Amino acid sequence: MKIFNTVDKLINYGLYNKMINPLDVQFCLNRVLNVLSLEDYEGKFDGVDSYVKSEEPKEEISEILSEFLDYAIENKLIEDSITEKDIFDTEIMATITELPSVVNSKFNDLYKNSPLEATNYFYKLGLNSNYIRRDRIAKDKKWTVDTEYGVLDVTINLSKPEKDPKAIAAALKSKAAAYPKCQLCVENEGYKGRLNHPARGNHRIIRIDIDGEEWGFQYSPYVYYNEHCIVFNTKHVPMKIDESAFRKLFSFVSSFPHYFVGSNADLPIVGGSILTHEHFQGGHYEFAMERAEIVTPLKFNGFDDVSAGIVKWPMSVIRISSENSESLVNLAAKILDAWRGYTDEDAFIFAETDGTPHNTITPIARMRDGKYELDLVLRNNITTDEHPLGVYHPHEEYHHIKKENIGLIEVMGLAVLPARLKSELEIVASKIINGEDLRADEVTEKHADWVDDIKNRYDDINKENVNQIIEKETGIVFKKVLECAGVYKDTEEGKKAFLRFVDYCNK
Ligand SMILES: [Zn+2]
Repeated sequence: MKIFNTVDKLINYGLYNKMINPLDVQFCLNRVLNVLSLEDYEGKFDGVDSYVKSEEPKEEISEILSEFLDYAIENKLIEDSITEKDIFDTEIMATITELPSVVNSKFNDLYKNSPLEATNYFYKLGLNSNYIRRDRIAKDKKWTVDTEYGVLDVTINLSKPEKDPKAIAAALKSKAAAYPKCQLCVENEGYKGRLNHPARGNHRIIRIDIDGEEWGFQYSPYVYYNEHCIVFNTKHVPMKIDESAFRKLFSFVSSFPHYFVGSNADLPIVGGSILTHEHFQGGHYEFAMERAEIVTPLKFNGFDDVSAGIVKWPMSVIRISSENSESLVNLAAKILDAWRGYTDEDAFIFAETDGTPHNTITPIARMRDGKYELDLVLRNNITTDEHPLGVYHPHEEYHHIKKENIGLIEVMGLAVLPARLKSELEIVASKIINGEDLRADEVTEKHADWVDDIKNRYDDINKENVNQIIEKETGIVFKKVLECAGVYKDTEEGKKAFLRFVDYCNK
């Protein structure tokens, strides 16, 4: 039967990528047969030869898995839906992904030699185990845009699976889930998944020490940027930005000096999507914000071992750096404390209204030239009648491109744009070239004012340059959205207001 040939391809793939130890071949292949509900095996592997050799796989893992999926649908093991297919092919991969204890022990052995080797191994495992779905990541659209703040990154992420209509309907009927508590909990490691929860049979977590506590380290399956990792408390406790959060960030970069790490702010609107589970995001990537330079040096009383300044960035960033991480923790805590309680009506900064707090910070830590560095991004989540979604949030005129919260990743200069934009921008381009009315179509109507303005600024838009112009202009909208999110604007008046806050910190 053809299916045995597919099983053999999978076992060969696992051996070749060192996911299967030769001693485990018989065991793994029996586990695969179990997922396929097969009682016989007529393939080429057996457990006799513990020195079995592998060959370089001729196919991508996604191609091998699609053969399994075809078999499962034909034989009515699953229905032909995105969710059921994802659960099924993840269970197949789970049979050849080593146990967490083995993965942790390999990681720790490599770490003794170098943290870089350890993360290289773990990232490669995420790819090889199909936990990170390479074929889906390849569909993401990515480009860069040159601005006065440096080269910003833009991505339209298409790798998050589309919402499955069957799954949405089933999720409505099912009762609220208590297990796993959330998508970040350790309970996800090895979890089969269900209609309203992703399949995690091939998911592995490295246990690391964060300032004396046991935390988890994993990669994001959606990889918004290179080696996009998530560092999270093994307990389901809420996000909190305080002095200890700064210390935890430095604890991570001390252990992984080739990675940056940052945290979303801990208030709605300016925070991330999961505020209920304490976590950071990091990775092996240099964002535009990291390359941005200090424009206004600052001095903080009592912190002679710290250099500080305001960063040339559309949002309001204080950068502090020192060889002494504890000085940075103390200064960051002092700045945070001052900011939480700070009101400057002339600059429309209100610490609270009707008892609801508005001020918080998005912090990002890294090592630079042997020194610790921390970027503190001042955030405020006040809303008004004019800006019901937030004053320091993308304004309505830009919602046709970006309406969502400006979280940690955007703050650093990477626009994560909604999947709908891929087709919308293609339609916009074709309408510009064909001279069609954008307002006559409800899909493109919302982009019409933006396109009118673009047409006024370019003499010649043609088939050859239209996509390039749209990409560039999309990036410029992202820059303006970041300026919306900046509590102090990049103007003389904004700078004066910013310095008033720094004076306040020094009092
Ligand atoms: Zn959780």
